[in-house]
Amino acid sequence: MKRNLLLTPGPTQVPARVCEALSRPIIHHRTPQFQVFLKEAIEGLKEIYQTKNDVYILASSGTGAMEASVCSLLSPGDKVMIVEGGKFGERWTEICQAYGIPTQVIKAEWGKVVGPKIVEAALKKDKTIKAVFTTLAETSTGVTFDIKSLGKVVKETPAVLVVDAVSGLGVEDMKTDAWSVDVAASASHKGLMLPPGLGFVSMSAKAKTLMVHSKCPKYYFDLRAYEKVLASVDTPYTPAIGLVVALLESMKMIKEAGLENRFAHYRRLAQATRKGALGLGLKLYADESCASNVLTSICVPKGIDGEKLVKIMRDQHGVSIAGGQAELKGKIIRIAHMGCLDEYDLLTGIACLEKVLRELGYRFELGAGVASAQKFLNGGLSL
Ligand code: PMP
Repeated sequence: MKRNLLLTPGPTQVPARVCEALSRPIIHHRTPQFQVFLKEAIEGLKEIYQTKNDVYILASSGTGAMEASVCSLLSPGDKVMIVEGGKFGERWTEICQAYGIPTQVIKAEWGKVVGPKIVEAALKKDKTIKAVFTTLAETSTGVTFDIKSLGKVVKETPAVLVVDAVSGLGVEDMKTDAWSVDVAASASHKGLMLPPGLGFVSMSAKAKTLMVHSKCPKYYFDLRAYEKVLASVDTPYTPAIGLVVALLESMKMIKEAGLENRFAHYRRLAQATRKGALGLGLKLYADESCASNVLTSICVPKGIDGEKLVKIMRDQHGVSIAGGQAELKGKIIRIAHMGCLDEYDLLTGIACLEKVLRELGYRFELGAGVASAQKFLNGGLSL
């Protein structure tokens, strides 16, 4: 049987323990038995979010959690600011526009981030901005935004800070409370090692004040309905029961490893990936100062068809990485290091990348990428 190694930025690999939990017989959700699971799931999520704020669990993908954040906080005509530098930052703008919310966009060049000073100056100019939307890990370019600094700036204004932590949660450090993140949207199928299907939204007291007055049209994604039943440990509609049960298992694994250790694990894998790419003479796409630990974006060398590279790795060798999106289609590849994977998964990925690059005509010393990554992983030992 061909391997199915997922080095993709979601879905990510699901560990055997979580698969076992997913295979358990379904239980009914309006029962004391499920309430115990739900309570534990919410408490566990708060630990991963590093927050005391409430966290709502939705049956949706990450975009659902993002949309729920927009329509639950705002009213048509409210002014918002989007701080972005990629496809997922653009998604905030698209969602706001769908609800008739005018956006002021502060754009970073792709592969880079926006500094807090620019945001501070823009917020000083317009004190009527209700919310600032940004992204923790911009999966389309492979950068991580400085949420801590943005939080410091937004905290001093009437606006709330809303972060897309869909791919970052559990992989890249985000101290929701300490960094004054009012709302953070995330999902199950990235750092939390589950299949897609759960969306999460954390909400601060400041954001809840906004939510009370929100007039955007909404029904399923009205987070007030989730808030209303939270105290009675319930969900307004049928939750994704099996996924909530499995979430407990993945959170147990995260707790056993320790959150800080996991961040360090992904940082190490990201660094090894970068070393591997450089060892092959490839250029990294993201600026070094903000390169993400969630995934590494690598420029496809001149003359090589990036889309073909991804396709051959997946279809002939069972190693899935991602290609570029939008204007980066065919120009970069993205190797994710989130979810359930270790250094040997990564080395397999780099070995496969070498093989296919060579087949497509790129010249380098075979094994150079794996050697560079290995050297780094083994603390600089020469092989
Ligand atoms: N934001 C980011 C940063 C993402 O990486 C993704 C998924 N790649 C999304 C939002 C959208 O999530 P979904 O596809 O689960 O709706």
